[in-house]
Amino acid sequence: MSGHPTRVGEHEPPILLFEAVVKRYGNVLALDGVHFHVNRGEVVCLIGPSGSGKSTLLRCANGLEAVDGGRVIFEGIDLVDRRTNLVQVRQRIGMVFQHFELFPHMTALRNVTSGLRTVRRMPRLEADARGLALLQKVGLVAKAGQHPAELSGGQQQRVAIARALAMEPDVMLFDEPTSALDPETIGEVLSVMKRLADEGMTMVVVTHEMDFARRVADWVVVFDRARVLEEGPPARIFEQPVVARTREFLSHLGWHADADDAGDGVARRFAPRERETS
Ligand code: ADP
Repeated sequence: MSGHPTRVGEHEPPILLFEAVVKRYGNVLALDGVHFHVNRGEVVCLIGPSGSGKSTLLRCANGLEAVDGGRVIFEGIDLVDRRTNLVQVRQRIGMVFQHFELFPHMTALRNVTSGLRTVRRMPRLEADARGLALLQKVGLVAKAGQHPAELSGGQQQRVAIARALAMEPDVMLFDEPTSALDPETIGEVLSVMKRLADEGMTMVVVTHEMDFARRVADWVVVFDRARVLEEGPPARIFEQPVVARTREFLSHLGWHADADDAGDGVARRFAPRERETS
């Protein structure tokens, strides 16, 4: 391979830049000098063992966590700078959590429109029209009047995605969006995310869904022990990881990650971890 691989959006400044980011929780070093960037229009997947700092990094990306060192730059704005208005900045960053965090007393439609009504002060009719269009986009317009408890986990997560999209964010952050779901509803959430990616949404996705990362990501960042182990296009990370610990991590998940292919550069998965469907 020659030179640096071309990345989506590399011709303009990154939308998100992490520079030597350090985060501690008491004695635990959750991020130990993390450095990478996300370009506009890219899907960047963060993978790596549990506890390696991926979710913490995502929370630092929208100022939900204060960092102890380094800089987080979003659209040229330093989130670490005390003068930055984080409330304003966060409106341009959509966040989707593992546990949906919908308002239980509100219908799906109200969950989607609540930010538009309270933060944007959008008139109800206009907010409802946008909310219904977004529910349509995630395939749930028929469920607009249902409450979260009446929806499956996958449906709740799709409502949460519609809610995040309502504010027309410049970037969407996904924190293990399918890890709390029943296996049969994981696919519907991943396909909504894939469609968003195809539309050009900038996305940062913490995921254990390696098939998704391999197929959908433009760029993969591998975390281990509070640091970035390596980063690169998915084909390189999954088929020719440079760092031994990346190979170990992937092979634990059933990825065959060495050169033992048919010469076509396509990695062969062995013993894929099948989802139990019965
Ligand atoms: P990952 O997302 O890769 O599983 P996390 O970012 O959740 O990793 O966690 C990184 C480290 O920080 C872990 O050791 C975890 O226990 C610790 N940690 C994360 N959040 C907190 C918190 N709110 N308080 C204390 N420790 C935390």
